[in-house]
Amino acid sequence: MLISIVVPCFNEEEIIGRFHDHVTAELSRGEGEFELVYVDDGSHDRTLPILEEIASTDPRARYVSFSRNFGKEAAMLAGLQHADGDAVVIMDADLQHPPELVHRMLALHAEGHDQVVARRTRTGDRVTRTLTARAYYWLINRLVDVELMDGVGDFRLLSRRTVDAVLELTEYNRFSKGLFAWVGFRTTTFEYENAVREQGRSKWTFGKLLNYGLDGLLSFNNKPLRAALYLGLLLVSLATAYATWIVGVALVDGVDTPGYVTLLVIVTALAGVQMVMLGLVGEYVGRIYYEVKRRPHFLVKAASTGVPRQPRREE
Ligand code: UDP
Ligand code: MG
Repeated sequence: MLISIVVPCFNEEEIIGRFHDHVTAELSRGEGEFELVYVDDGSHDRTLPILEEIASTDPRARYVSFSRNFGKEAAMLAGLQHADGDAVVIMDADLQHPPELVHRMLALHAEGHDQVVARRTRTGDRVTRTLTARAYYWLINRLVDVELMDGVGDFRLLSRRTVDAVLELTEYNRFSKGLFAWVGFRTTTFEYENAVREQGRSKWTFGKLLNYGLDGLLSFNNKPLRAALYLGLLLVSLATAYATWIVGVALVDGVDTPGYVTLLVIVTALAGVQMVMLGLVGEYVGRIYYEVKRRPHFLVKAASTGVPRQPRREE
């Protein structure tokens, strides 16, 4: 059995060498054969030369390098396309995903699980981050059709058929957490203590997290659109009721026109609601726009590996 380790790397010069030594040492202790597929996501630092060096000295290692930074989602996709293993493990380059857990994943895989998902405990995270995450997952699980779990990231083992299934999903806007959940198959989760990043820093900024959250919300359902529809209907009924009441009062008590402020407030509020709804529709239209262009997910500048494998299709 061949195990592929897929590693997206973006500006990881400080740690990538150590990562490689650590992973190879750990995996050599297991029985199976393994290969490492590094994806350089357009790093500006010495990540690529280091990967070239690693690939030239270690026959188990290969790399693909992007023409620019396409994001971790694209890097994972490239890694999955290039991985030949019967099982594939996706891992961060910063050693936050402990390589020794791969043995545990393989054991669970051997028990017949197609996806073995590592779920990190949020120890060491700021309270605000933990709370927002919790609120977000509460909300998202009420909206989307697939189940998304807090603490679950991309650190997971995928069986061959799961990888092939994921490769069949060619959408441009990739939200892997949702894609993995969407393909299904037998999935199991185990918890691990998250390690603190030792070198370099996290590429997540608040803005990036916000966009990621929005992507999750919008990539997997159109319930927000439906909510907009209901909200619109509710506002129309309220307005109709109010109008009827005003007209009634005017007819009974004679003409009376107070409420300049009420009018102003209502008009502004409704304009706001309309803007939000328009923005929401725009989000979906924007997604369609990117999908129909059918641009490649990434461009490769250099690679030590051959042509990517195509998803294996059962005839
Ligand atoms: N990464 C990537 N492209 C990017 C950003 C990150 O390939 O645009 C890689 C990065 O090198 C690392 C992994 O994705 O291996 C996770 O990134 P990071 O540690 O910054 O995220 P965090 O652990 O904070 O979620
Ligand atoms: Mg990290």
